[in-house]
Amino acid sequence: MSNKNFFEHESNCSFCGRKTSQVTQLVTGANASICDQCIQSANEILKNSRQNQFQSGDFKLPKPSEIKEFLDQFVIGQTRAKIALSVAVYNHYKRISIDGFEDDEIEIEKSNILLIGPTGVGKTLLAQTLARLLQVPFSISDATTLTEAGYVGEDVENILVRLYQSSNYDVGSTERGIIYIDEIDKIARKSGSPSITRDVSGEGVQQALLKILEGTVSAIPPKGGRKHPEAPMVHINTKNLLFICGGAFDGLPDIIRRRIGEKTMGFSARVKSVNSIPDGELMEFVEPEDLLHFGLIPELIGRLPALVGLQELSETDMLSILVEPKNSLIKQYKKLFEIEGVELKFTENALQEVVKMARQRKTGARGLRGILERVMVNVMFEVPSMNNVKECLITEDVIQGKAEPILKQGKSRQSA
Ligand code: ADP
Repeated sequence: MSNKNFFEHESNCSFCGRKTSQVTQLVTGANASICDQCIQSANEILKNSRQNQFQSGDFKLPKPSEIKEFLDQFVIGQTRAKIALSVAVYNHYKRISIDGFEDDEIEIEKSNILLIGPTGVGKTLLAQTLARLLQVPFSISDATTLTEAGYVGEDVENILVRLYQSSNYDVGSTERGIIYIDEIDKIARKSGSPSITRDVSGEGVQQALLKILEGTVSAIPPKGGRKHPEAPMVHINTKNLLFICGGAFDGLPDIIRRRIGEKTMGFSARVKSVNSIPDGELMEFVEPEDLLHFGLIPELIGRLPALVGLQELSETDMLSILVEPKNSLIKQYKKLFEIEGVELKFTENALQEVVKMARQRKTGARGLRGILERVMVNVMFEVPSMNNVKECLITEDVIQGKAEPILKQGKSRQSA
């Protein structure tokens, strides 16, 4: 067949008319085809229309109650935190949507959020789930890796680089994203009072963070790393970014206890009752002055007006985390087995044992996955090569490593 004949039978893109030979890829459907370039243009159109919707106020921002409902599907417990976050996030995006149209007299200030609570109770998960609901770019940074510009470590601007990368290098959507900064408590001043000597790892980083939290135009090297005088820069305005900071703030309950105790001196019964409140519950009484005593600088505290305390997870919460959320660990394992044609079952005692072990690790719900993974790895190794297994039962003894999973045979099983 000559080249001419071959090209005469080529398909065309139904949108721009280019032939297969003129494009990198042509996707062909039942009655039409589309080339890679038109797919890209269509993507741009969709992205711009979303941006316009945002700016014109047409973007359908979920109501606080709808935001909470969405969070409920993925995050167990933490009701107070969910309500506070739903309101803060709603107000934040409302504020963006009226940007430029607002009354000159009343400017709605940005309300970044500080989540305070032990490790593994859902701080990151809450921030992540919010970003998913709102379909905005999201990134996580660790405050402990940050240093002031000019010192060894990561520049604070790298936080923005990460968000820019997660937005697929789109400045417009980066500027509406959500940034989660973990371990913010680890950059506290070593003592509550201002330092005389320079405190590179703590106060200096807080100062550097302050600028981007307040709202500034930051020049970032698009690929990250240190700024280089000759390298081209991308400018990101942080005015409309939502910052959610999180930390465990070990020692904070004692600070809160002392403050409440001092204020109620003389009322010995109340002082006594303050002392009997468990650490986890005290967090909900946190005030900005406690954070000052902890070692955050006042300006940074001022930029994190939404203070949200998270509770330690109870045994019942942990059990629910295993089975209830839309993508819970147990549902994920069951799905993996279902693909193999096997029904995976756990006894109630097995689940309780997993929770008991996870609670001993003191890493909140984070420990659940590790414990299950250790138990499941062997059976997940073997089951795909077995031909007629129809059910796999995990008991308490299996979790404790004292027995093997109980496999029930079926007549035949379709191979995946
Ligand atoms: P942290 O509070 O330290 O940020 P994470 O949000 O990263 O904790 O939680 C670690 C993991 O534990 C999450 O990926 C999630 O699977 C699980 N988890 C923690 N808290 C909850 C919760 N309240 N509801 C559902 N899952 C949770």
